[in-house]
Amino acid sequence: MRGRTPSDSRLRIMIVGAGFAGLAAARCLDRRHAVTVIDRSVSFEWLPNIHELLSGAKRPADLRLPTRRLVTRAGHRHVRAEVTRIDGRAGQLTAADGRELAFDACIVAVGGVNDTYGVRGADRRAMPFKSVADCAAIGRRLAALARQREERSVVIVGGGLEGIEALGEILRRFRARGSLRVSVVESGPRLLPGAPPALDASVRARAVPLGVRFCIGSPVVAVTRSRVELRSGEKLQSDLTIWTGGVTASPLLRDSGLVGKRSSWAPVTPALQSTRFGKVFVAGDAAALPDPLPKQAYFAMQMGRCAADNARRWLAGRPTRPFRPGPKPMLVAFGNLDTFLVRGRTVIASPKLALLKEAVFQFTMAEIDPPLEPSALRGLKARLRGLY
Ligand SMILES: Cc1cc2nc3c(=O)[nH]c(=O)nc-3n(C[C@H](O)[C@H](O)[C@H](O)COP(=O)(O)OP(=O)(O)OC[C@H]3O[C@@H](n4cnc5c(N)ncnc54)[C@H](O)[C@@H]3O)c2cc1C
Repeated sequence: MRGRTPSDSRLRIMIVGAGFAGLAAARCLDRRHAVTVIDRSVSFEWLPNIHELLSGAKRPADLRLPTRRLVTRAGHRHVRAEVTRIDGRAGQLTAADGRELAFDACIVAVGGVNDTYGVRGADRRAMPFKSVADCAAIGRRLAALARQREERSVVIVGGGLEGIEALGEILRRFRARGSLRVSVVESGPRLLPGAPPALDASVRARAVPLGVRFCIGSPVVAVTRSRVELRSGEKLQSDLTIWTGGVTASPLLRDSGLVGKRSSWAPVTPALQSTRFGKVFVAGDAAALPDPLPKQAYFAMQMGRCAADNARRWLAGRPTRPFRPGPKPMLVAFGNLDTFLVRGRTVIASPKLALLKEAVFQFTMAEIDPPLEPSALRGLKARLRGLY
């Protein structure tokens, strides 16, 4: 087990997960603590724009940053490993390769995993929509289908933010060819269930004239090689099924005793401290706040900063501070047909808002990876070329 070395008397903070929340926490901490960031992946992935891989508007390299560079530049130690258990009582975590790492405080920021809700065939027959690799693979499959002579059917499961942004990208790239017939299935009462009803109407007004079919209010019960079956009894022909339907908590939370009885996410106090173990703070999608928030990157970053501050305070014996989320409008891209800005019950639609969404991407990527080094500067230049 890695303990404190005689030459290093600093308190140890472990950050598990180098996504939006984990990296925001890492950037807030300095060398007064011995900080280790552990993640199973080599790259940070900008998930809010992965839909653009379906049309080729972005390439995988545009949406990835090397985790090691981001972590070491902040002055911290980077470990690449899959964490299989966090012992919040003993202050130790275990990795899949058998390594054990000790900590005085731990920030858990592991996000979520794809959820097919036990729908028959969905794990094997539907393509997940949860990572850069997933969406790059969907983009290739769409291109192969569009090249075929006969009309092909694509079914998007899930009419939430991800499903609608995926639809927009498919229409951006393939609507002129007319060889793909697209359906969207949403089990809720309307598209984008958490957003104002006006958004549902706006999306339909743009998509229905292009031949898109919406099946609302009936969940999917099975996915086969060539069909998507709904509870209503309807069977949709499908040459490609894209599963944007859901996200659930990482099994690591359950295996580490961090979850409650009612939720698979990790319950936290208003200060983002685990209700189970005082040494553990939880940030980002993994956290179940007393007042739930949408699982969004902006909130994940805010939580990461708050968890880092509170871990530092807790280690110093000072009072922690409650997490206060700032207001956040949502930008929903619909390919090159439109972009929607949603704030409360208000929806503003304009294709020009796409530039705002792109600016959020560019500026936040530059915040995560400040262009001080030649490689980061090259990355920023490449991204800006895409903007103009
Ligand atoms: C398709 C899609 C579209 C989205 N669009 C938007 C949007 O438009 N706007 C918005 O605000 N949000 C959007 N989101 C949500 C946003 O991406 C998430 O809220 C955000 O990524 C959560 O950040 P996080 O740090 O909690 O988790 P993540 O960013 O998922 O990071 C988790 C990290 O933990 C690592 N990890 C996980 N388990 C382990 C383990 N056991 N051991 C080691 N490492 C581990 C992972 O490798 C990953 O690097 C979208 C999400 C998706 C999937």
